[in-house]
Amino acid sequence: MTPDAGREPARVVVVGASAAGLAVVEAARSQGYRGELTLIGDEPHLPYDRPPLSKQLLTGDWPPERLLLREQAHLDGLAVTMKLGQPASTVDADAREVVLADGDRVPYDALVVTTGVRARCLPGSDGISGVHVLRTLQDALALRAELVPGRRLVVLGAGVLGAEAAAVARGLGAEVTVLDPLAWPLARIVNREIGGWLAEVHREHGVDLRCSCAPVTGLHAAEGHVAAVELADGTVLPADTVLVAIGATPAVEWLAGSPVTIGGPEPASGSGGVLCDPRGQAAPGIYAAGDVAAWQDPATGEYRRYEHRLNATEQGRAVARALLDPGFTPPPSVPYFWSDQYDLKLQTFGTLDADDEFIVVDGSLGARRFIGVSHRDGLVRGALGVGMPRQLRAWRTAVAEHAPWKETTPA
Ligand SMILES: Cc1cc2nc3c(=O)[nH]c(=O)nc-3n(C[C@H](O)[C@H](O)[C@H](O)COP(=O)(O)OP(=O)(O)OC[C@H]3O[C@@H](n4cnc5c(N)ncnc54)[C@H](O)[C@@H]3O)c2cc1C
Repeated sequence: MTPDAGREPARVVVVGASAAGLAVVEAARSQGYRGELTLIGDEPHLPYDRPPLSKQLLTGDWPPERLLLREQAHLDGLAVTMKLGQPASTVDADAREVVLADGDRVPYDALVVTTGVRARCLPGSDGISGVHVLRTLQDALALRAELVPGRRLVVLGAGVLGAEAAAVARGLGAEVTVLDPLAWPLARIVNREIGGWLAEVHREHGVDLRCSCAPVTGLHAAEGHVAAVELADGTVLPADTVLVAIGATPAVEWLAGSPVTIGGPEPASGSGGVLCDPRGQAAPGIYAAGDVAAWQDPATGEYRRYEHRLNATEQGRAVARALLDPGFTPPPSVPYFWSDQYDLKLQTFGTLDADDEFIVVDGSLGARRFIGVSHRDGLVRGALGVGMPRQLRAWRTAVAEHAPWKETTPA
């Protein structure tokens, strides 16, 4: 048990049944927590993994069952009360109850918010078939069903999600156009040089990649199905399927009126998350973890929110410890992200802001195997590797410690 078992909450309620929520309940039990655990999720499924949605599931290589993070029997063994298919609609903080959409009230002593983010939709696209976002299993299955040879797919957004989906769609024989008003793909993460290199990779694979393009003004439909995408400069692009990959917004609306604060300086892709201290605490008795949470960095005082799979698990585990042990402070973590595009695996440690200095220190873009390091004010902030996982790991410590920048830092 924890050193301060007397202060353990008797009832822990976790809202959001995905990677972060699962990590909370598993870590709580593995640390000996014996109180009541409830996991509430609005999706009808057991927790599943999202990264394969734009990769192995979209290609058809993996069936949906393979995405399940845990079997029912495992969750039964944890003695977790699962309430699935039911969104939380509000928090009654005075009564310490989560109110579900069906009016059911779930009492808590500690509440953990792990509701993640929702895909941003294109205004005016409601009710038009053939227009997709990509966040849930249903989204991915619906998109996959349309990715057949010759299908004209227009992807709005050349961020990670749009780029991955474009790569898969090309592999399935679709005709793919990618539109982005920014000057190169992944423009919020990588600089012009790497973005230009990635653009070249996509074009070589037959993607009609249009960066710096005019904003999308609307969709044309015929008999209720999308027929074209129109841009502000008058361009009309015929489309059989449209994927809207323009970022995501934290799922926080159900927290309105609760004591948590929503906000913080924003990451590239979304609006405000749940502001938390460095232990994940957002308000007395309320914690948050994963994509929805903006934790304060104790070193800089800045709030940072990450939409990274590993971060969701790490923060979920850390919250479980923090709520059982008031003395626990998580060790500094190094954000890690990966993306698969064609036969390339991009991996990053730390933060890569497009306006930081970014230098290729190993390999070469031409060989499609390289390590690049980003630094600002003379300090290392992030590293990006393509096809060189071992060499990339060598930069992890330098990134974690914001080591002074020099090309030979890991050696
Ligand atoms: C297609 C795709 C590809 C990705 N690829 C990568 C990758 O290659 N590498 C990487 O590092 N990361 C990737 N990610 C990001 C990664 O999947 C997320 O960081 C991770 O899923 C975050 O987990 P989470 O538990 O915080 O939130 P989520 O996984 O978003 O889960 C939140 C859950 O809460 C539910 N919920 C929301 N509101 C409520 C409510 N009011 N009541 C009850 N439940 C609610 C949601 O429906 C959802 O089930 C990808 C994401 C997507 C969508």
